[in-house]
Amino acid sequence: MKTLLRYSLIATALVAASASAQTFPTKPVTMVIPFAAGGPTDVVGRLLAQSMSKTLGQQVIVENTVGAGGTIAATRVARAAPDGYTVLLHHIGHSTAPSLYRKLPYDALTGFETVGLVTDVPMTVVSKGDFPAKDFAELVKNVKANSEKINLANAGTGSASHLCGMLLQDALGVKVTTVPYKGTAPAMNDLLGGQVDLMCDQTTNTTSYIKSGKIKAYAVTTPKRLAVLPDLPTTREAGLPAFEVAVWHGMYAPKGTPQDVVMKMNNALKVALKDQLVIDRFAGLGTEPVADNRTSPEVHKQFLTAEISKWKSVIEKAGVQPE
Ligand code: ASP
Repeated sequence: MKTLLRYSLIATALVAASASAQTFPTKPVTMVIPFAAGGPTDVVGRLLAQSMSKTLGQQVIVENTVGAGGTIAATRVARAAPDGYTVLLHHIGHSTAPSLYRKLPYDALTGFETVGLVTDVPMTVVSKGDFPAKDFAELVKNVKANSEKINLANAGTGSASHLCGMLLQDALGVKVTTVPYKGTAPAMNDLLGGQVDLMCDQTTNTTSYIKSGKIKAYAVTTPKRLAVLPDLPTTREAGLPAFEVAVWHGMYAPKGTPQDVVMKMNNALKVALKDQLVIDRFAGLGTEPVADNRTSPEVHKQFLTAEISKWKSVIEKAGVQPE
């Protein structure tokens, strides 16, 4: 009798889950962004949200849950109801946080359903407008000579700017003072105002300021030069092949979100990545959607697994102690 009751309860739960997946979404979906509004992750998220709202027939609302290098937002989504109404748009930091924090309240790999990869964004090494170095060689000389006076902005431990700044310091063999912000939008304000000297940030945030000459750019961290900034040398050309990083973004749902709901989100994501408006805006920011064969939840999961182990060894080699 008891067994019968259990089976009928399971069957009812399964029917309810698949019925909810069929009608999903019946209300707005919240997309949690781990960094400040107006910054590079926020820009990518808002472009996706606009397009995904059309496909899903429901508003995708962006919410910025900032702090602790993106881990507060990830915690929030890991603990949210697994119903597809709360998703996370995160970047490479989701794969570095497990090596940078002693105790995270979630498991970056098993605590989420991967929805799909979004885009890879190059990073640029930039300085305040009047920093006394005109090219990468001069920057290296200056930073080495004045390391104790130089400030490097980032978006907190676990952010992409933190990782990129760590690689830069490691490549140059120096330590400078790092200044954490809640995202690189506020960090950029201070760089523009000259309160901090250097930053390493996605092209989605730096391209327009580089082009208008408000900040100086020294190198791009991808193996190839960028079409939008063709004069900017790569870190490889500058003689630092170990200093290479591209900031990939991915979307996540809480662990246990029904697979058909995940696939509906994945489909809306895929449509967004083919949306000409998204493609054009991405291009203007120095990036493009990932290739079709990288948008599935499975490929995203495999990639995340590889990235977690790749960055673990880089971070350990750099001697960075987890917080
Ligand atoms: N670019 C930031 C980072 O360093 C995050 C952001 O503000 O989007 O991770």
